Amino acid sequence: MPNYNILITDGLDERGQSILRASAEVDYHQKTSTDDLLKVIANFDALIVRGQTRVTSAVMDAASKLKVVGRAGVGVDNIDLEAAKKHNITVVNAPSSTTVAVAELALGLLLALARQIPRADVTMKQGEWLKKEFEGVELNGKTLGIIGFGRIGTEVGNRASAFGMNVIIYDPNVSEDELKHGIAEPVSIQELYAWSDFISLHLPLNVQTRDLMGPLAFSQMKDGVRIISTARGGIIDETALLNALNSGKVAGAALDVFEQEPPGLTELVSHPRVIATPHIGAQTAEAQSRAAEDIANEVLAALRGESLRWKVA
Ligand code: NAD
Repeated sequence: MPNYNILITDGLDERGQSILRASAEVDYHQKTSTDDLLKVIANFDALIVRGQTRVTSAVMDAASKLKVVGRAGVGVDNIDLEAAKKHNITVVNAPSSTTVAVAELALGLLLALARQIPRADVTMKQGEWLKKEFEGVELNGKTLGIIGFGRIGTEVGNRASAFGMNVIIYDPNVSEDELKHGIAEPVSIQELYAWSDFISLHLPLNVQTRDLMGPLAFSQMKDGVRIISTARGGIIDETALLNALNSGKVAGAALDVFEQEPPGLTELVSHPRVIATPHIGAQTAEAQSRAAEDIANEVLAALRGESLRWKVA
């Protein structure tokens, strides 16, 4: 059996580490900077990251032995896919492992926004009883617009439908046929903005989707709309969102992802009508264990030249 050297940065659940250790030499560097990575990467056949490590073209230039990069999760926007292709480095991810965890967080944020649950809790802890201030809205009968109806968007739609919501979706890659027996109605992006009481984002960040939700998009939305993003920072133009909150156009926003992470105590994060969470969409015990197991098996398969389930590049 060939002796593979595998580097893990960003952390990996123990389940994945033990699968890898059975077949390879494993080095585990928590929080590796790009400079550190550049110094050591030439020693490794495989690199496993989550969302933090930036696998740039400089890293790939220095990675003379590297055959595969594994992303323990879905989003691959921290990996330079063009450079990977150029260097013949395979990129794989574990796309279904975190679907339910992110969908459940989105639903939690939807409910938290509708009923202002985080602020109600904070005021109780300050010894107050502001019952009259906390009149919320119901989800039942409201319209939820989902942008990006892939794995996570579909799970969110199913759950929102069970709450009595009318679900409309915008996704240029999902055909009406695929939705025939589903709970969601496909609409144009303008119709979605005009009709939605709540909008939840579930699309990837790429050159087409960066700043997708900017001043024009907010101007097309209903007054008092509520926005949830568990997708990626950079899809919402944060300045435009802040303006829309301050003008009252947007009644509330719940954000798990930010243009810069961590964002610090920005005006957006500290806004009274914003609920902010530190990119915890995939942070459940079950999702982390599944992601680690899936990516460990996939990276070993890539090293052995076996067929791959989740090849991204
Ligand atoms: P997916 O690939 O199954 O679905 C994404 C959908 O977005 C696809 O159906 C695609 O057609 C659609 N899409 C692409 N461009 C679009 C556009 N311009 N407008 C509308 N729709 C568009 O991915 P998924 O597993 O559902 O994950 C969705 C996103 O969630 C990921 O890309 C990732 O950025 C994010 N995510 C966040 C966390 C977190 O911790 N908060 C965890 C996992 C994933």
